[in-house]
Amino acid sequence: MSKLLIKNGIVVTLGENNQIIPNGYVLIKDNIIENYGKGLPVETLSSDTEVIDAAGKLIMPGFINQHMHFYSTFARGICPKQPAAANFQEILERLWWPLDTALNKDDIYYSTIVPAINGIKKGVTTFFDHHESQGFQNGSLDIIEKALRETGVRGNLALGSSDRYNRGKEGLDENIRFVNKIQKLNNTDDELITSMFGFHAMFTVNDHTLYSSAEAAKSLNSGFHVHVAEGSIDNKINLQKYNKTAIQRLHDSGCLGKKTTAIHCIYLSEKEMELIKATSTSIVHVPQSNMNNAVGVAPVLDMMNKGITVGLGTDGMSPGVLDDVRVANILHKLHNKDPRVFFVESCKLLLENNSKIASKQFSKQIGVLSKGSFADIIVVDYDPPTPFNENTFLGHFLFGICEAKVDSTIINGKVLMKNGHLLQIDEAAVNAKSREQATDFWKRF
Ligand SMILES: [Zn+2]
Repeated sequence: MSKLLIKNGIVVTLGENNQIIPNGYVLIKDNIIENYGKGLPVETLSSDTEVIDAAGKLIMPGFINQHMHFYSTFARGICPKQPAAANFQEILERLWWPLDTALNKDDIYYSTIVPAINGIKKGVTTFFDHHESQGFQNGSLDIIEKALRETGVRGNLALGSSDRYNRGKEGLDENIRFVNKIQKLNNTDDELITSMFGFHAMFTVNDHTLYSSAEAAKSLNSGFHVHVAEGSIDNKINLQKYNKTAIQRLHDSGCLGKKTTAIHCIYLSEKEMELIKATSTSIVHVPQSNMNNAVGVAPVLDMMNKGITVGLGTDGMSPGVLDDVRVANILHKLHNKDPRVFFVESCKLLLENNSKIASKQFSKQIGVLSKGSFADIIVVDYDPPTPFNENTFLGHFLFGICEAKVDSTIINGKVLMKNGHLLQIDEAAVNAKSREQATDFWKRF
């Protein structure tokens, strides 16, 4: 049993309690939040209790990146196939599909460990990763798992099965194997890693893969992590081949549900939104990626008004999620031509809904500071320059905390970064090896 006390900071709980506690503390026992409150804990702590002094700083739950592609790491600086992609399909064909097909074991390892380290530095304590490596699927999720366990970062892993090269069954087998393995492991382990099933997107998944995946996921009480209606091509091809939209196919096969997250959802009809709502499926918004690929603006306000839970991810644009919060705020103001909207909503995506969506994939809550939750906590170097309380918090969050430096990061009760220093990782050595690996990878791209 080990204890960790974080003291003298302003505690921001988020969650149902949603309290701001000046001069507060958080007490962690092993990997669980044991208590928090004002001043210091009443109990006498043993001399070997680890202490972090958070004076002049905030103590708050770590952030959750609800949709990430670790495998995109080696795309940084790469020259895509030419001529330059002019639409979403060409972006896939000239960058992402050749890239994921060329990935080998070492590429996947370094592609994971680099953003995991960056996550620690940016206060992201949980990643929902959507992996694709068509040239190396069997065993690929174990490599990502290894990199996350080595860095100490929490993750939920899924492989996006796809029949674009007739390897849908191979992808499904990898998901079945890995979900089984992690479910058995988590009976005795500390649940740093969980897993779910995945599809690339319905326009590259045939009915055989779709229905056999639905059956396998049902038998393992799992859900799906899947791109939906990212570009107009998704519904166009699904309607041509199957006479159904992507959402209709997911619904009819039984893949929608409370453990399934549909990413993007830019092109949704009213009827499709009703299906998503009726099945308690969640949607994840990735504003920077959508803008970068020029694919459109997801109708997030409509979704939220209908009672759909919408979270926030980065789609590989960055490991950190805070830029996407700020972009979501201004994108939807501009899109709706209404400065009154999306101030509260942009914060809600990350601070409230990601916690709700992510906690469905773990046995304890994450993304909130409450007794009994997993101890994923960050200390942020933010000394409020204007009154700071429950009523003013969102303004501070969007225009101050998003810009502030993360001072310390604790995941699953372990201190991974303290006062800006990574404790267990030699980042420069990892980056040097990653550059070497990426140089080799670019020759194979
Ligand atoms: Zn994605």
